[in-house]
Amino acid sequence: MKVLVLNCGSSSLKFQVIETATAAAPGERDRKLARGLIERIGEKATCRFEATGSRPHAEEVFIRDHDEAVQKVLAWLDSNYRARLDGVGHRVVHGGDHFTTSVLIDEEVIAAIEALNELAPLHNPACLSGIRASQAALGPSVPMVAVFDTSFHHTLPDYASVYAIPYELSLRHGIRRYGFHGLAHRYVALRYAEITATPSDQVNIITLHLGNGCSASAIRGGKSVDTSMGFTPLEGLVMGTRSGDLDPAVVGHLARREGIDVAVVEKWLNEKSGLLGVSGRSNDMRELIEHAREDERAHLAIEIFCYRARKYLGAYLAALGGADAVVFSGGIGENSPHVRAKICEGMEWCGLEVDEERNAAVLGVEERISLPHARIHVYVIPSDEELLIARDTTSIIEKGRVDA
Ligand code: AMP
Repeated sequence: MKVLVLNCGSSSLKFQVIETATAAAPGERDRKLARGLIERIGEKATCRFEATGSRPHAEEVFIRDHDEAVQKVLAWLDSNYRARLDGVGHRVVHGGDHFTTSVLIDEEVIAAIEALNELAPLHNPACLSGIRASQAALGPSVPMVAVFDTSFHHTLPDYASVYAIPYELSLRHGIRRYGFHGLAHRYVALRYAEITATPSDQVNIITLHLGNGCSASAIRGGKSVDTSMGFTPLEGLVMGTRSGDLDPAVVGHLARREGIDVAVVEKWLNEKSGLLGVSGRSNDMRELIEHAREDERAHLAIEIFCYRARKYLGAYLAALGGADAVVFSGGIGENSPHVRAKICEGMEWCGLEVDEERNAAVLGVEERISLPHARIHVYVIPSDEELLIARDTTSIIEKGRVDA
């Protein structure tokens, strides 16, 4: 089945066309046929598209909104890659309490996603524009599926998801820990099960998704039982520009002392903090590692980043009562032996032992990097959210056909 995967960010649009193996042909493999990215929607945007069998395309052009961006992608796909699409899978950031699995999109689903805009004001409206624009362009004959970044974490027990604030306030405003990056954690858990031949309901692991955004997840019996991002993707680990955990009193204190609105502080915590805020240099881990020797603050930023990740490892080992493996993913997790080694440093006490040589050799590929006898193994598994979206889209469309 040929599936277009659309991933609309606040000012970007990523896409892939994936030919998925269908249930009817179990020996088949998924094939990636095209992909691309539009950045800086709303101004002079950069577009980069590529497809198997055609020349890569790059241009800078003004793109007004997501509607226009989707039309641009579809027009390019149409002229470079004429195959008919069987379905579209949309990544939707926030599914709230409402969506615990991926769903076929209809008017009711659209209204429910719209009702969640308040919880994800930058992201859900962009996803909705992507849904509407592709519906308008492709018509009702192409089914569409919404795949949610929060739904993998709907299994969090209430003691892990409820904040210790007045309960009525939590209820009134839908405040709880929803968790994000669900597609990345779910994909990694699935792949871990496949490569270690572990039945999926016996997967007990800690996943560390470390990219520009970072989150950890504690997975028991294949289900997420805790995760570091909470009500918003600001909580938890230190990230490229986000602070992660901090004393909530800092927000009011900064607003009063600097004489600014709370919204400005929130912006600082989201956009000017994390690796960028501490180093004053960059949100890019590669650059910080490059300059850590001569730049004390770059060094400090890396130290804080790794220390906080190690604290979460310890916390999740306690939450799970031990784990079989720790899995790294994301741009940093997949590509930085230095960061992986630093996070795992001094964890031998619990049986987590990294093989230095293997760790140094593994860049962006799926591999075990722990010593053979380690009680807790360590893996690198590059995440592939788009593939999971395409597979969910295929299985929901196929199921719909069987049910109909
Ligand atoms: P992502 O958001 O998953 O694309 O990850 C982006 C992050 O991965 C940035 O901080 C990059 O600096 C980091 N990254 C990519 N390659 C490397 C590398 N070889 N070493 C360290 N960090 C890397």
